Amino acid sequence: MLRDPADELVAREDPTAPFVVTAHVADGPDARDAVDSTERALWHLQAFGLRPVGALRVREVDDVDWIDAWRRHYVPQRIGRVVIVPSWVAHDSAPGDAVVTLDPGMAFGTGLHPTTRACLGLLQEVEPMPARILDVGCGSGVLALAALRLGAASAVGYDTDELAVEAAKANAERNALAERLDVRHGSLPAVADERFPLVLANLVAALLVGMAPRLAAHVEPGGTLVACGIIAWRAGEVSEAFAAAGLAVTETRDDGEWAALRLEAAP
Ligand code: SAH
Repeated sequence: MLRDPADELVAREDPTAPFVVTAHVADGPDARDAVDSTERALWHLQAFGLRPVGALRVREVDDVDWIDAWRRHYVPQRIGRVVIVPSWVAHDSAPGDAVVTLDPGMAFGTGLHPTTRACLGLLQEVEPMPARILDVGCGSGVLALAALRLGAASAVGYDTDELAVEAAKANAERNALAERLDVRHGSLPAVADERFPLVLANLVAALLVGMAPRLAAHVEPGGTLVACGIIAWRAGEVSEAFAAAGLAVTETRDDGEWAALRLEAAP
């Protein structure tokens, strides 16, 4: 499968690339049978004159608890003053640190992803931290919680994924910030022009372009929007969509793969 060059969300089939199909079978008494019958089936498949079918490769893998394996590699990480600490790790923070204790669960937002890190970087440059924040696509709640730790009084987080809403609520509790973080299921505030001095949106380029007018409508005059998750080559298109909605780019971060934009609304 290849990424569709026109849309980073869509994958398409490359008819010239080899396919690899990987299957896992429990290593019990039936495992040998499963391997034999797969081998026979592959052999029969050749008769259809498809592309060459390679030999079946079999290997034993250790039985790891993947959730645990992932957790073991998720260590505290610092992005400027913000320190993201996995909830199962003990951590001594330094004075001035904005510590967010996080268990992302099944939601996006471990703080490890370059787009989240870029967002956390730009967020810390918004001085002074505005009182009210809107976090669109809040995932685990990582950005909104960091903003609260950096001095925001309250935040509203939206996510279209129920699992993210649950994870963000649990993380708000975990940080004793549930009173100040209002997590809602959905995409954007129901009131079309409810405005915030700072809006965070770590979404993909296609969504940002499509949502630009609606996102801009939630930024206060003179307010800031931090847009991340932009595949680098689409940054121009995203900037144009926001320019058409009245927001001007004041800073761009680009690591070669991902771009993050800071945009300002006219006062
Ligand atoms: N803010 C987190 C998560 C970003 S991932 C971080 O920075 O790490 C993007 C999130 O946006 C996902 O949780 C996804 O469920 C959510 N999402 C996708 N489309 C959305 C939409 N139209 N409106 C609101 N949230 C959306």
